[in-house]
Amino acid sequence: LTGFAYSQKKQDGSAMYKNAALPVETRVKDLLKRMTVEEKAGQLNQLTGGAFTGPALNDAGQQAKMQMVRDGKVGSMLNVIGATETKAIQTIAIEDSRLGIPLLFGYDVIHGYKTIFPIPLAEACSWNLNNIEKNTGVAAREAASAGIHWTFAPMCDVGNDIRWGRVMEGAGEDPWYAGLVSAARVKGFQGNLDEQHVLACVKHFAAYGAVEAGREYNYTDVSRVALWNKYLPPYEAAVKAGAASVMNGFNTFEGVPVSGSHYLVTDVLKKKWGFTGFLVSDWASFGEMITWGYAADAADAAAKALQAGSMMDMEARVMIAHLPELLKQGKVTVHQLDEAVGRILEAKFKLGLFDNPYKYCDVNREKATLFTAANRQQALQAAQEAVVLLKNNNKVLPISNKSARIAVVGHYADSKEDLFDFWIAQGEFKSAVTLLEGVRKVWGAEQVSFAAGYRADATTDDKLIAEAIANAAKSDVVLVNIGLSGKMAGEDRSLANPVVPEAQVQLLKALKATGKPVIAVVSAGRPLVLTAVEELADAIVYGWILGTESGNALANILSGVANPTGKTVMSFPYAVGQIPVYYNHFNTGRPVQTDGQGNWYSRYRDIPREPLYPFGFGLSYTSFQYSNLQLSSALTDKGKVVTATVTVSNTGDREGEEVVQWYIRDYAAAVIRPVKELKGFEKVSLKPGESKQISWKVDDKVLSFYDASGNLVLESGKFTVYAGGNSRDVLEASLEVR
Ligand code: BGC
Repeated sequence: LTGFAYSQKKQDGSAMYKNAALPVETRVKDLLKRMTVEEKAGQLNQLTGGAFTGPALNDAGQQAKMQMVRDGKVGSMLNVIGATETKAIQTIAIEDSRLGIPLLFGYDVIHGYKTIFPIPLAEACSWNLNNIEKNTGVAAREAASAGIHWTFAPMCDVGNDIRWGRVMEGAGEDPWYAGLVSAARVKGFQGNLDEQHVLACVKHFAAYGAVEAGREYNYTDVSRVALWNKYLPPYEAAVKAGAASVMNGFNTFEGVPVSGSHYLVTDVLKKKWGFTGFLVSDWASFGEMITWGYAADAADAAAKALQAGSMMDMEARVMIAHLPELLKQGKVTVHQLDEAVGRILEAKFKLGLFDNPYKYCDVNREKATLFTAANRQQALQAAQEAVVLLKNNNKVLPISNKSARIAVVGHYADSKEDLFDFWIAQGEFKSAVTLLEGVRKVWGAEQVSFAAGYRADATTDDKLIAEAIANAAKSDVVLVNIGLSGKMAGEDRSLANPVVPEAQVQLLKALKATGKPVIAVVSAGRPLVLTAVEELADAIVYGWILGTESGNALANILSGVANPTGKTVMSFPYAVGQIPVYYNHFNTGRPVQTDGQGNWYSRYRDIPREPLYPFGFGLSYTSFQYSNLQLSSALTDKGKVVTATVTVSNTGDREGEEVVQWYIRDYAAAVIRPVKELKGFEKVSLKPGESKQISWKVDDKVLSFYDASGNLVLESGKFTVYAGGNSRDVLEASLEVR
């Protein structure tokens, strides 16, 4: 077969699609003309990979996949890892398949490849778009050196439900901010599309963050107004930033599984936004249209996916199995098929894979690129910026005393495994730095004791508590690492009770009783309900899941080498029953009570109405004060720009960075608007005693909203402009638009 294929290729040596000098469009057209229907269906088929060298060569399953590649029945593979493995299977595609079409290798590079960065949710708490772009750039460089062309990121799903394990992969609850972060991630991943970068994939299109009850793979039901104003903006921002691909979600929209939603895929994505890249399903999501009760069988699923405008089939294998017969039956058209295949080929041409299929498979580059000191430095910076200081009574932090005796308590503080989550299979576990290691480096091993405090499964053990108390008694300060293992975050990690486990609360109580200052370092892949911790701990450092440099970053924060600048991008609920709670909610018609800002809305009788910590909240070791919010004009016309200014002062005793946040409210509109919407921010650095005047332009875009058809609308009427260091504590000024 190989010999035959070679001779075929020789005959085709002058084929237009092989001529790098011709425009991509011409090459795609030429290639489409030469392809059989089966080969076209093959381009829409994505298989999970595995190994293709060594013992794998004798594995029947792997052999079958290799044969499919030879037969032109595979267009892409995911989960083939490393320059050597990708080269092995790419060689089969190039040398042995009839047309020599290169494979596209995809992988979930969610927060780093070897060097692990903070989970995306935590990274977004930095409000540092430049660094977010740089972080994804590092992840891209590492992954690309390991043969990967394409990452299944960024996740652009806005969610309000911390029961959903995947909030860790996004950028929080605000659609506008999540859009900026998503766009930065796309740019970081894709760069100029050379072999140092990877294609981005905007997922999970669309509104997957609305899964009912936070349960993975579940049903979603959102109105078009909510779709456009709340869910679509981050995907749109990422698409407009040039994302090469989009992934269908697992969920439904208006009763249709989104893989089969013509409205979302064709009307919104392709037509309204002019998206010219390609789509990939989520894992088997074309086939799942059957389980949903939308497609009768695999053939029907393939037809419905293609008719909707969807394209590549991740592991459901319905396209490869049924497209040829569907075409014969006239259930799909050549035009539909060619559009899908053409876009995938175009991506391969643009990456230069037809001209140099092995440009990503360079073992030397791989070695030189992975887990370098520079990459780790970037991860350290990212981890420091992700930390959110939630409480700091009596300024117990930072612990600037270098001779302090520190009791580190908590199983997670000494566990590398728990530092990692579902998404970092390639991560460099062994070299990751735990909290205990980080603290020992700063204060010296002899000053730092350790006690596990609770069992690895976060259950109580009186002996462990007794040990922790004994250590605390001999120390000046207690650092207790609580929360949830990283393994509880990510896909299929929905939790009915996203709380700090009871065993840890018992531990905190026992530690508090020692009278020593208790600093809680909380690790978790999502906000947890912290009400008990807020009562018991003197300080709370929210450490999320920070990746490779976790312990170093936390130690820098705890010792004051770094001053916290992170602000949470998800509200922290007061109780589980309060979920979903989010800052950009709506007023209600019923005036139950007022919060002093004229906001009336519904409540529970047994808990406060507000979240424990609001969106945008995070403390610094210094303090900031806002004053003198002014608008250049209180009355304006559409099309004009009003300048808002506010003075921000550092009233504390050390230099710090503050995220100045701008919100608006629209009081009467054709569709009701949230009580606050973030529309601007600036991260500013201030020396002690320094004040800066920060200004922000209020234009039509800022004041507009989407109608149910996705058109931006600006209505005249009354608005409020707010400025503050979080979504709750704000100054306000009135604005009227004529
Ligand atoms: C997840 C996607 C992921 C894909 C490939 C799916 O189960 O939902 O986010 O990209 O698997 O690993």
